[in-house]
Amino acid sequence: MKTLSIIVPCFNEEECLPVFYEKTSEVVGHMPVETEFVFIDDGSTDNTLQILRGLAAVDKRVRYVSFSRNFGKEAGLYAGLQHATGDYVCVMDADLQDPPSLLPEMLDILNSGEDYDCVASRRTTRKNEPKVRSAFARLFYKLINKMTDTEIVDGARDFRMMTRRMTDAILSLPERERFSKELFSWVGFKTKWIEYENVERVKGKTKWSFKKLTKYAVNGIEGATPALLKINLLFCVLFALAGFGFVVADIVMAVVRPAVPDLFILLTLLFFCFSALFFGLFVLGEYIKKIFLQVRGRALYIEKETEQTRPETKPLAAAKSDAKDDDKCA
Ligand code: UDP
Ligand code: MG
Repeated sequence: MKTLSIIVPCFNEEECLPVFYEKTSEVVGHMPVETEFVFIDDGSTDNTLQILRGLAAVDKRVRYVSFSRNFGKEAGLYAGLQHATGDYVCVMDADLQDPPSLLPEMLDILNSGEDYDCVASRRTTRKNEPKVRSAFARLFYKLINKMTDTEIVDGARDFRMMTRRMTDAILSLPERERFSKELFSWVGFKTKWIEYENVERVKGKTKWSFKKLTKYAVNGIEGATPALLKINLLFCVLFALAGFGFVVADIVMAVVRPAVPDLFILLTLLFFCFSALFFGLFVLGEYIKKIFLQVRGRALYIEKETEQTRPETKPLAAAKSDAKDDDKCA
């Protein structure tokens, strides 16, 4: 039987963990897979670790890794992916905002034979979320999607189930500044999106303060793309335009007045100097971009399949005759 690993990053989740374990165990108990839980205790200061020790003592399916301090959810996700051994890997929050009832559907989609390697989830509403937070989140998704080639879906949760090959692809990306939502999208593979209404956290409070979220957003953009470096080009153009504006003003002054004021000449020179300076910074930025991409060390391509790993398929001749039969029927 195939195995499903459920990765759960936990930071001070003593209230949620018992409910999460109970509800999720009940659902996976009816699924045609063996399950392992991989809990990542992200340096919790409450009884999270004690609860995990207790669960591991009574249930062989429970594995956990406890961090020496709080390293953040991204580190937790990475550790979970590293320790997961399953054929299918699922990432879930501990607070039941990711409904375990969706797990059977997710597994069915991966097994449907339609070549899906990932079933991702997206919440359709931001109900019960503070308005400012929702507005900033929307702005963030707009910005990052403008700046990156990959699409990062607004409202996408980290809650998703993936095949082993997609999990390995994500693990093969060696970068330190990880922004999982972008990595999931960057590695490619056919993904099916399922949608659900926002569910409130079962117990406890969100671990994301506004400051932590802002840092996450800024780190996300910086890690995902060097596009911010292009801002130098914008300043270069703006200063050049201002410089040309002043050249025109200088000419008009020279015609209508006996002399051009010194201040105008000074500003004209200053704007052109700034423009040249920003052009230099832009060129520097282009090289820094290349260093960034080289150091990030992502693969040039990700393999999905070779003849060695192909699923069972009919030989081409048989497939063609099947297609002809289908045509006849039509
Ligand atoms: N989490 C974590 N480390 C952190 C912050 C959060 O492992 O530094 C975990 C947390 O325990 C939960 C998941 O990440 O299982 C999502 O956190 P939370 O529910 O607070 O975020 P929200 O759903 O409000 O975005
Ligand atoms: Mg939550």
